[in-house]
Amino acid sequence: MSNIVTAEEGETYDLELSKDLLKENEKLAERNNTLLRKHGIKTIDVMGSIGTGKTSLIGQLVERLNKKYRIAAIAGDLTTTIDRDSISKHGVEVVQINTGKECHLDSNLVRKALLQLNLNEIDLLIIENVGNLICPTEFPLGSDKRIVVISVTEGPNIVVKHPHVFMEADIVAINKIDLANIVGADISLLKEQIHSINQETTVINVSCKDGTGIPQLIKALEL
Ligand code: MG
Ligand code: ZN
Repeated sequence: MSNIVTAEEGETYDLELSKDLLKENEKLAERNNTLLRKHGIKTIDVMGSIGTGKTSLIGQLVERLNKKYRIAAIAGDLTTTIDRDSISKHGVEVVQINTGKECHLDSNLVRKALLQLNLNEIDLLIIENVGNLICPTEFPLGSDKRIVVISVTEGPNIVVKHPHVFMEADIVAINKIDLANIVGADISLLKEQIHSINQETTVINVSCKDGTGIPQLIKALEL
């Protein structure tokens, strides 16, 4: 006897609603993308669990790219402004989106945040998604590229337990590489797991603490 319960298609209560919602989100995402491109803005969506280093990674990118690009950021979080405050320390404008109970950003919230920015004065927009590896996957925001940040401290099953987010990822940054030996992380196994889900994605080892891999990440972002 199997001890696993699997929800069938149509079994979840809000399926129809959520299908419409996802379609609506996609439409708005396309509109965001069109608007951003019209202004010549490149946009990156940074996804990953809480504590993997999304904010630190954005800080590293800003420090290395702020001479080349006029950068702005959007920070998504349930209720706090912690990420906005730490990204704005790098001298860029940051709009905070507080989602309340929602564990992801959606393209409507991003559209509202875009209204707060002067798009004529931005070349590069970095979006920090809400810390979550599950539903941000289903909600494209209109970005040009999506990065997933994982950390060697998340254990050996972080990739295999979240296949969908890696399917969506243009780039995967394996952060805290400086701690890999200490926590006994098997980096080549993580890479293998990522590539067995998505052959196309670029995997880069980074340390936001000492800057390892950040130039490679910038190159992969074509920035
Ligand atoms: Mg953060
Ligand atoms: Zn969510």
